[in-house]
Amino acid sequence: MLDNTQIERIEPTPVNSAKVRQPMYAARKKIFPKRASGSFRQFKWLVMAVTLGIYYLTPWLRWDRGPFAPDQAVLLDVANRRFYFFFIEIWPQEFYYVAGLLVMAGVGLFLITSTVGRAWCGYTCPQTVWVDLFLVLERAIEGDRNARIKLDASPWTARKLALRVSKHAIWLVIGALTGGAWIFYFADAPTLLGQLFTGTAAPVAYITVAVLTATTYTFGGLMREQVCTYMCPWPRIQAAMLDENSLTVTYNDWRGEPRTRHAKKVQAAGQPVGDCVDCNACVAVCPMGIDIRDGQQLECITCALCIDACDGVMDKLGKERGLISYATLSDYNANMMLATAGGASPVNPSLVRTDDGLFSEKVAHFHIRKIFRPRTYVYMAMWSLIGLGLLYSLLTRDRLEINVLHDRNPQFVKLSDGSIRNGYTVKLLNMIPEPRTIIVTIGGLPGAEMSIVGVDLPADRSFAIQVEPDRLKMLKVFVRLPADQIHGQAQTFTLRVEDKASFESNEYTATFNAPEIAR
Ligand code: SF4
Ligand code: SF4
Repeated sequence: MLDNTQIERIEPTPVNSAKVRQPMYAARKKIFPKRASGSFRQFKWLVMAVTLGIYYLTPWLRWDRGPFAPDQAVLLDVANRRFYFFFIEIWPQEFYYVAGLLVMAGVGLFLITSTVGRAWCGYTCPQTVWVDLFLVLERAIEGDRNARIKLDASPWTARKLALRVSKHAIWLVIGALTGGAWIFYFADAPTLLGQLFTGTAAPVAYITVAVLTATTYTFGGLMREQVCTYMCPWPRIQAAMLDENSLTVTYNDWRGEPRTRHAKKVQAAGQPVGDCVDCNACVAVCPMGIDIRDGQQLECITCALCIDACDGVMDKLGKERGLISYATLSDYNANMMLATAGGASPVNPSLVRTDDGLFSEKVAHFHIRKIFRPRTYVYMAMWSLIGLGLLYSLLTRDRLEINVLHDRNPQFVKLSDGSIRNGYTVKLLNMIPEPRTIIVTIGGLPGAEMSIVGVDLPADRSFAIQVEPDRLKMLKVFVRLPADQIHGQAQTFTLRVEDKASFESNEYTATFNAPEIAR
């Protein structure tokens, strides 16, 4: 029998020990981004105006397709199973065009990310655009960063209540307009607008507007950067897209460190001084609330506003712009090796400059040729090939089609005169928004005649059928073959369709079945 002390004591460290336990959930630290100004901010305003303009105005564009088709330029007509995009009309069986466009969008995203990093996130992602829009309104109502921080910390007063109610009310209106614009893509926009206000729209329209109002308000107004950091998978995926020649927003430590607010004092002490004056302007404008000087971070959406902020500071100090800049990892590493004497010392920015204070010739700068590398060639080739394939297919696609389904039971019927009759379901597809007279003709099968159920004409080898615009017409067709023309159990023939007005034609090869005894 062992005594207590003879039992071996091992020393594992519990990961969630009661002594050091931290809450699993950390409260969000509020971010009050300061308004930035500069060329990237200007570009972002432009992108915001264009993307929001496209989203809100597109359903109101008209496109004349004649009296038999809707005149909305972009319309997802779910009820009639059609997608209209200006002069292009997509039927359900042509959905591969939409799939192809989605694949192109995916490859395009790979291409953009491998060259200029998360440009999608920073400029055109709907979350970024709407957060930007919500921030503009917030600033207009509550003021810029300092005023907002002060207001947030102040006790509730009538003024604070009025400002907050106004802000949230306007955000909700933006949310409703966003949801409203979305449903206009699925029905005639002017008609649906009238129905919405008179309470006669379908319940699904009101539900969609309500859901999109709530999500836009929550994601764009309340959650903001948390959507990018915690909900979106793209920050995780993008790491696989980037390589050492991809451009990303970078703090150039090799010229910025050691940072100090007291350059003269430090220089007087014989210490090296970098260009960063530790003003935190780059942190104040960041919509994600991060410090880019800590290096590449998952949270950084590469909106480049910190570049604008820092360039403004450098301008005031009379120093070269670009302490924070779009740079590649390879250039950054080369410059860091230069500034640290091959990694042997801490950063000494004097090593990247000449005696007269200019950058040394050895400093690596981005060159446009770095965009063109094997990886980007592959993405470009894939994107172009898919695009050309879709374009070719679109320009050469049939707008008049025929599909034939042979009756399975019975496969044939023997008539009293010994002839054999086969039944078929024939589908005529008139894929243009005009009515057409389509000639249906039997090709081959000498002696055969057809009759069409509902067409009060004697049996013949050819019929003229009226087909409504943009419609599929289903016909029940019987083909009869005299006994002396039957040469086998299965004889092939064609059913040809032709529009004499447009010279379009198409044909389907079908089989005529007969019993063995008839041979
Ligand atoms: S660190 Fe700069 S680029 Fe990244 S999100 Fe913040 S402001 Fe935008
Ligand atoms: S804005 Fe520029 S100078 Fe100011 S802290 Fe940021 S990197 Fe340093």
